[in-house]
Amino acid sequence: MASRPRGPSEALQRYALGLAREKLLAPAGNESAKRRAALLRKLKKAGIKGWPQRATLFTRSLPAGCRPCLRGLGSNLVMTLKCNRDCFFCFNPKPRTAAMSVHGRAVGSLKEGVELLAGLGVKSVGISGGEPLLEKKKVLALARALRRRFGCSLRIDLYTNGDLLDAGVLMQLKTAGVSGLRLNLAANGYDAAPAALALGFFKDVEVEIPMIPEDKGRVLVLLGQLDELGCRHLILHELFASAANVSRMEGRRAHQRRAGLTWSGVESSEEAALEVLLAAVKAKRRISVYYCSTGTQGWISRRAMARAR
Ligand code: SF4
Repeated sequence: MASRPRGPSEALQRYALGLAREKLLAPAGNESAKRRAALLRKLKKAGIKGWPQRATLFTRSLPAGCRPCLRGLGSNLVMTLKCNRDCFFCFNPKPRTAAMSVHGRAVGSLKEGVELLAGLGVKSVGISGGEPLLEKKKVLALARALRRRFGCSLRIDLYTNGDLLDAGVLMQLKTAGVSGLRLNLAANGYDAAPAALALGFFKDVEVEIPMIPEDKGRVLVLLGQLDELGCRHLILHELFASAANVSRMEGRRAHQRRAGLTWSGVESSEEAALEVLLAAVKAKRRISVYYCSTGTQGWISRRAMARAR
C-alpha cells in the first residue's frame, strides 16, 4: 500500500493555510473606495466595534471561537475535504480527498491531530471540512479526545453546512463535548431551518457565510430570521477567489476579482458586508454581525502558519 504523504501538498496549503502569494490587496477603484470610506464613516458614527484599519468589524460582540483566533490561539482540524454539496464559492481543492490535516499538515490519525493541536497551545479548535459530518464517528471521537486532553478550557466549534443534522446527531455532538456550531447556510440557499433545530441543543449557534454581493437581500432576510430565533452571531466572510474556485467565480459577472492575487477578495463583497453591518446597527438587531475580511483571514493564517513551523 502506498504510504500517506506527510507534507502538505501545495493545493492543501493554499486551502488550509489561506496562502496569499501577495501580501497586500490591490487598491479598489476610486468610486468603490469612496463608497467604502462613506460606509465606514457611517458605521463608526453608529458605534461599530473592531478594527476598521483591517476591515474587521462587529456590531455587538465577537463570537467566542473568534476571540482566541484573533489572538493567534485558534486552530482548525480538517476532518475531510469530501462534501455532499458543490458550492460555486467553495475553496476546497479538487479532487476532494478524505485526508485529515491541521494547518495544511497531513494528519494520519486523530491521536496525531490532538497532539499536534496540543503542541500549538491553542484555546479554540474548529472541526471543519468539506462536510465533517460525513465522518460523524470520527468527529465525535475527536471531540471526546480533545475534551480529555484539554478539559473544559478549550472551545470546540463544528463547521457544517447543516444538511446532516438531526436531533440525534445534535445530542451526540453535545455529549461528545462540542461547544457550538458554525453553519454555512449559503450552501443551502439561506434556509435557517438547521439553525432553528440546533438552537434546541446549543446556546452558541453561529451562522458563517461568504458575503456573496448579489445575495445581499437574502442575507438581510436571513439576518432577521436568525435574530428572531435567538442566534447570537452572523459571521460574514469576504468572498474570495482562490485557485480552487476562480474559474466558477469568473463565470459570474458580479465577481470581478481585485487584481494580482491568487487568494483575493471579490470586488464589492466587502461593500455588501458593510451594508449588512449598517442595516443590523440601524435596526438595533440583538444578533451581532461580524465581518472578517480576506486581509484578516490572511493575517490569521500567516500567524497560524508561523506558529505551526
Ligand atoms: S458546503 Fe462548504 S465544503 Fe461543501 S461545497 Fe459548500 S462551501 Fe464547500
